Amino acid sequence: MAVISPVSEDLVNQSWEKIKNALKTEYGDATFKSWLKFLDFAGLRNGQVMMTVPTRFIREWIVAHYLDALRRLWCREFPSIKSVDIFVKPLASNQQKNVVNLPSAEDLEISGANLASASFVKPLSQNDDARMQEEDDGYILDSRYTFDTFVVGRPNELAFAAAKRVANSSETTKGANPLYVYGGVGLGKTHLMHAIAWQARKVSRHRKVMYVSAEKFMYQFIKAIKQKDLMGFKDQFRSVDVLLLDDVQFICGKESTQEEFFHTFNALIDQNKQVVISADRSPNDLEGLDERVKSRLGWGLVVDLQTTNFELRLGILQAKMQSMMVNVPLKVLEFLAQKITTNVRELEGALNRVVAHSTLVDRPISLENTEELLHDLLKSHDRKISIEEIQKKVADHFKIKVADMHSARRSRAIARPRQVAMFLAKKLTTKSLPEIGRKFGGKDHTTVIHAVKKIEELCIGDRSFAEEVEHLSRILQN
Ligand code: ADP
Ligand code: MG
Repeated sequence: MAVISPVSEDLVNQSWEKIKNALKTEYGDATFKSWLKFLDFAGLRNGQVMMTVPTRFIREWIVAHYLDALRRLWCREFPSIKSVDIFVKPLASNQQKNVVNLPSAEDLEISGANLASASFVKPLSQNDDARMQEEDDGYILDSRYTFDTFVVGRPNELAFAAAKRVANSSETTKGANPLYVYGGVGLGKTHLMHAIAWQARKVSRHRKVMYVSAEKFMYQFIKAIKQKDLMGFKDQFRSVDVLLLDDVQFICGKESTQEEFFHTFNALIDQNKQVVISADRSPNDLEGLDERVKSRLGWGLVVDLQTTNFELRLGILQAKMQSMMVNVPLKVLEFLAQKITTNVRELEGALNRVVAHSTLVDRPISLENTEELLHDLLKSHDRKISIEEIQKKVADHFKIKVADMHSARRSRAIARPRQVAMFLAKKLTTKSLPEIGRKFGGKDHTTVIHAVKKIEELCIGDRSFAEEVEHLSRILQN
């Protein structure tokens, strides 16, 4: 069944541009420049997206940290995509890029054209992919995300204890059904969810444990509707003993998915099956979610992953250093733990950059070269940009009043700058979508999402507009 047709080379290239922009927005410019910019689109065949990077190290890092996001973003563009694979292609053979066919309409179908002479697209080693365990039903658990590798400190001890209790019980845990874990980006929600899944499976092998992201739940649901197999879909989710649904905020505002999820959820709870939910905010703060659903999500045990403190960050760095089997001076670890405070993913990223750099240039790691190397990253952490500042700069630039940033006026001359400001607020601050919405005159978070998408699209289609936005972003960061 062709879901998208016809698929032209242009369309796929445009999609890749969109995905790159989304990655920049999601992970920030520093991360993008360090890792993601090395990704090259190489081809698409039978639902498999092929991408290349110049070195093995970059590949491993991207696979470990960004593959989920890449999958998600590619699937958003083309729902029929089944896998995204990254291969190593040294820079020297750059000229050969065109050896790989670009996609045609058939490429997104199950049957299909052959990929001509794609000899360079060789998997690095089988072991790399063995790390990701593919379950029977296609849901993936990362073998690094276990309780053993989760470092515990004050900010996360409650969530950790609750997760362990649920995972170690061979039956549904009374008082903790559902278990609802929430916390900001990169604080370990997915790690804990995978850890519960691994452990629950170990504790009682006969129980069927299923981990799924809310986004994937939605795609499966849409697919089932298209393929007229809702029964199959319902059966699949209702026959499990432990259901772990990651990032439930994703289905807020998506009415039919929400409804379907609620039915699944109720069916499982009524049968006394264990449900674990994660989200980036508390049940009460889930805007765009039906009141019934909200209240039921909070019926069991609600625990949060709080922002990390210095000790926890240092502990995580030490554990990570040991697992990489390298030695990094304590001073450097302390420096990183002090400077990079928002998100564990970024913290790990910084450590990896430091280690990789020292291996590449064959120089020992020191405080000086760390500061130098992470200059861009640290700068963005040192300077906190406020939404008010963004609104003011953008209003000045487009010659509108700052008050218009809060208004509901829809004329394009006002609405467009407002969208640019929302886009920059998402990109340059750590504020959540609802928080950003509130600062723009109490708008809904879906309005912010819409604004971000709109600006991304415009940037792809209009070079001079893209430069204008880039310019604003730069002056705000300086
Ligand atoms: P979230 O799902 O909340 O956005 P993740 O679970 O993906 O965050 O965590 C981001 C990265 O940080 C992962 O690589 C994870 O292993 C790591 N991490 C987060 N918290 C911890 C912790 N307490 N101990 C060890 N690693 C952690
Ligand atoms: Mg996550």
